Amino acid sequence: MLWSGWGDPAKARELPAKVRELLHDLLGVRAPRGPAATLESVRLPPVGLPSSSLDGLAAITGAEHVLTSHEARVRHTRGKSTPDLLRMRAGDGSDAPDAVVLPGSHEEVAGLLGLCARERIAVVPFGGGTSVVGGLAASRAGFTGVIALDLARLDRLRSVDAESMVAEFEPGVRAPDAERLLAAHGLTLGHFPQSFEYATLGGFAAARSSGQASAGYGRFDDMVVGLTVATPSGTLDLGRAPKSAAGPDLRQLVLGSEGVFGVITSLRLRVRRAPAERIYEGWRFASFAAGTAAMRALAQEGPLPAVLRLSDETETVIGLAKPDAIGSSGGSGCLLIAGYEGPPAAGRRVAARAVLTRMGGEPLGEEPGEVWERGRFSAPYLRDSLLAAGATVETLETAGFWANLPRLYDAVRLSLLGALGTAPPPLVMCHVSHVYETGASLYFTVVAPQEDDPVAQWERAKTAANAAIVEAGGTISHHHGVGRDHREAYAAELGPVGVAVLQAVKARLDPAGILNPGVLIPVPGR
Ligand SMILES: Cc1cc2nc3c(=O)[nH]c(=O)nc-3n(C[C@H](O)[C@H](O)[C@H](O)COP(=O)(O)OP(=O)(O)OC[C@H]3O[C@@H](n4cnc5c(N)ncnc54)[C@H](O)[C@@H]3O)c2cc1C
Repeated sequence: MLWSGWGDPAKARELPAKVRELLHDLLGVRAPRGPAATLESVRLPPVGLPSSSLDGLAAITGAEHVLTSHEARVRHTRGKSTPDLLRMRAGDGSDAPDAVVLPGSHEEVAGLLGLCARERIAVVPFGGGTSVVGGLAASRAGFTGVIALDLARLDRLRSVDAESMVAEFEPGVRAPDAERLLAAHGLTLGHFPQSFEYATLGGFAAARSSGQASAGYGRFDDMVVGLTVATPSGTLDLGRAPKSAAGPDLRQLVLGSEGVFGVITSLRLRVRRAPAERIYEGWRFASFAAGTAAMRALAQEGPLPAVLRLSDETETVIGLAKPDAIGSSGGSGCLLIAGYEGPPAAGRRVAARAVLTRMGGEPLGEEPGEVWERGRFSAPYLRDSLLAAGATVETLETAGFWANLPRLYDAVRLSLLGALGTAPPPLVMCHVSHVYETGASLYFTVVAPQEDDPVAQWERAKTAANAAIVEAGGTISHHHGVGRDHREAYAAELGPVGVAVLQAVKARLDPAGILNPGVLIPVPGR
């Protein structure tokens, strides 16, 4: 993984000339002034942990699994949001952990939490490091130091129960490895977020992730049937039946908890048979309203394709649904991609086509669907190229009920346009890619010329968008989570009693407050 960008450096690509021209002509984007920092030149705070603490950590995991090298600390600094990348490109490593610790078992995780609680060392659970909401930058205030608890060594598929269709994994398994391990049994999770190449199963559960095929396979939290969690107060072992009436479901307290209550050390996940066939196709709708009405019909009447994604007019004309062919316009109207996985892919397709046709869709054949499928993990690489070319580019997301979706869409769009100025106006694009009977998510992508301080520029836009989401009645996140960036808006969404409940759980499970301080919940007095 690139330390200041996304993904495999071998896959990085130059922007096509016509996209550079478009950026310049449409938005006035100019190349940034100085070169980006090199890994060696990133400025890090000195290691603050005393050697006695480092020795204590090493006594639990083995000295070879406690890293304090410049490179290891840089690679565990923050996550992969655009502000995170911009800070790294500027050489700012001020949020670096003092040490990176790689435990090899649940018992070692529990031992590390005990030591860190005694010595007041903050602990940041670290999966794939792909958080885009500031979930990996802990507050240092009041702590002797910060460690990144990298779960990469917990990377095994523990068991497959093919009768119940449940697989047990360790949390550090990356998504492609999970699919490879399951494929040997003819199974799949069906979880394909855009961060698929690097994110881990523990991170998906901790941040309530949702993948591109969520319409067919569900969100990640739908897949979790059981969890083991190491907390500073002991172990939680949750989930002994598919459904239960035995009181509130504490699994839901762990899902989305972003490491503030404990460290997930094992996950029992519902799996499905790997599909024998996959068909992706494109449809055109006259407007975003017509396209969302068709999606709603599919979500409420069925049959739902496994993948269902609709670009608004701006995203369609820019061609963002096809990152590998960006700049070759997707045409007018709104492009919808539908993907069927099965069997019975073909039968499902026939029934879905009838609904899409009735709702005014024009079939475009399989080519747009195949182009989307080939480029489905390319957009993050495109972001790096756009940042290097001098554009500020970032995404944000929300969700709402169908009846409120148009209001939410308008409110977020207008807030972003207002915050980023009108000369020339930024590009604000949107798509819907997760649908439910009662509503859907909205995923916005923004491109603007970089100002002198692009981090401040994005923070201005993000603050306006957060306020618009709260005001328009949406949720602050459909699948990115809360982290530090959404903490205040999340608190507004929960209300003071909800926040007090979270704080009470935190105080019981993590009395010293060492786990991810500053993330998810406001911590009283800090
Ligand atoms: C380019 C890009 C595209 C993305 N696309 C999507 C998408 O399509 N859908 C989507 O849902 N998200 C997406 N994300 C967001 C991100 O990938 C998800 O939030 C993912 O769930 C994070 O997984 P991770 O393993 O990288 O976790 P990390 O980023 O390492 O951690 C995320 C949070 O969970 C905590 N944590 C991690 N592991 C554990 C554990 N074992 N126990 C307790 N806490 C833990 C961390 O402390 C942190 O607060 C995208 C991000 C990027 C950069």
